[in-house]
Amino acid sequence: MGIGTARWYRPDADLELLGLEDESGSDSEHDPGAERERFERAREQAREDLEGERDRARERIGEEESEILGAHIQFLGDPQIESGISEGIKEGHGAEHAVQRAFEDPISQFEGMDGRMAERADDLRDVRDRLLRVLLNRERTDLGSLPEGTVLLADRLTPSDTVQLDPEQVRGFVTATGGRTSHAAIFARSLAIPAVVGVGDALAEIEAGEEIAVDGEGERIVVSPEAATRERVEGREAVEIRSERAKTADGEEIEIVANVGRPTEVGGALDRGADGIGLYRTEFLFLDRDAPPGEDEQRETYADALDAFPEGRVVVRTLDVGGDKPIPYLDLPEEENPFLGERGIRRSLDPDSQLFETQLRALCRAAGSDKGELCVMVPLVAAIEEFEDARKRFEAVLADLDRKGVEHARPAFGVMIETPAAALMAEELADRADFLSIGTNDLTQYVMAADRGNGRVAGLHDSQYPAVLRAIRHTVEGARGTDAWVGMCGEMAGDPALTELLVGLGLDELSTSAVTIPEVKAEVEEIDRERARDLAERALGASTRAEVSDIVTRSEVQNT
Ligand code: PEP
Ligand code: MG
Repeated sequence: MGIGTARWYRPDADLELLGLEDESGSDSEHDPGAERERFERAREQAREDLEGERDRARERIGEEESEILGAHIQFLGDPQIESGISEGIKEGHGAEHAVQRAFEDPISQFEGMDGRMAERADDLRDVRDRLLRVLLNRERTDLGSLPEGTVLLADRLTPSDTVQLDPEQVRGFVTATGGRTSHAAIFARSLAIPAVVGVGDALAEIEAGEEIAVDGEGERIVVSPEAATRERVEGREAVEIRSERAKTADGEEIEIVANVGRPTEVGGALDRGADGIGLYRTEFLFLDRDAPPGEDEQRETYADALDAFPEGRVVVRTLDVGGDKPIPYLDLPEEENPFLGERGIRRSLDPDSQLFETQLRALCRAAGSDKGELCVMVPLVAAIEEFEDARKRFEAVLADLDRKGVEHARPAFGVMIETPAAALMAEELADRADFLSIGTNDLTQYVMAADRGNGRVAGLHDSQYPAVLRAIRHTVEGARGTDAWVGMCGEMAGDPALTELLVGLGLDELSTSAVTIPEVKAEVEEIDRERARDLAERALGASTRAEVSDIVTRSEVQNT
């Protein structure tokens, strides 16, 4: 989270003012030779600038991300665009006009595509505007020197905009367009700048100078936040990072681990004091490429995570696609209700059984006795039969590796509790699994019948409803008396205001995004378990969300 003063960034408006959006073509009086030369010079300068930015990005953000700018360099020499520009210049247009026209078709082709391909349209606009600025001698707004305490608002931010942002100056940014996987969002995560993208037209109502709180984790912004929100955000920044395990005031260790998606996030989790990884969302390894990663590549990625936590646990979730997580090469079907369709384990059992097997093999091979403990977790289980089937395939992989003499070890095998069915059958699942991890993002969506991505029902998608708390309690109770441990890896686990309640409900492990780990650890240290249990009992007895919230807030006030 970050808090600061709103500042608008409107680069498109700059260019519109120059009349470039005008399609009249009335400028056909130019000397083609001179315009060609102007264009070549501009392209050379744009290439030099981009190369410099790419090198800086490599240092600040990472090799992989910097290649987004490498792709921009390639666009500068794209033959289709180049021939469009030559044609325009030959017809007697100025270089600016020719550039603008030549980019039109490629941009609209990408706009018509799905998912990540559509984001390429932004990359092309970025390259086009860069060329135009050089041609027009327009300085770009220097996003690298904004006043300290800025929350940047924009219709969209391109990769080359985002890469300039300095986390020391920028407390957050909010864009009207874009998704969680847009380049701006990816860069924001790497730079640890709180960001909310894709908020829609409502953003235009915010005026420069207003105070804004940006909650990147909760995916929301608060305009003119109240004092309590402000104190929470400012308090967060000051919490000390501890690498030792957190213990409640009465001496019980609670494991505080991290949710990660990309290999580059593992180091960040370690830096924020995580005891291990409680949720490795492996779909990110499968996104943004044309074919799935092979067994060896996956083995290496999982082994790297284990090496980072030799004393801890690393919980890797098997591929969870479908619903809101499309992967182009898997050819996912169009579904009326994707969240109730072929998601998670359903696809892994069939039709993606081959991918599932490869992933299980890579995981068993990555597990080793001299490293941290590897745990494999299957998502979106609704029926005992599904878990048993998954377990059977896991055993078959282990038997095959044994038979072939391939080096491996047996990871723990557990299940996510994300459906009401799984919560209701927790006892039977705990008998069969080594651990349970509650995914409150989906569990809340299914218990409350409120789509987690639909702003119109966001009020109902709230884990503090008593029905959700009771599903959590039922899960914990189900595992009591078995050897299975119970953790939580949904967003709820990362809300420090709820840590006492969750410890009181009996969770052994909380997994949250790396940024909130120090705060959650600090909360654990303050907890008296007897009081936490009492708080949980009262919350479980509540009839409404308002009552739960009241009980939690009163307990917070008493504790301070
Ligand atoms: C969840 O559903 O709570 C969860 C952690 O998984 P994801 O958010 O990846 O669906
Ligand atoms: Mg989920």
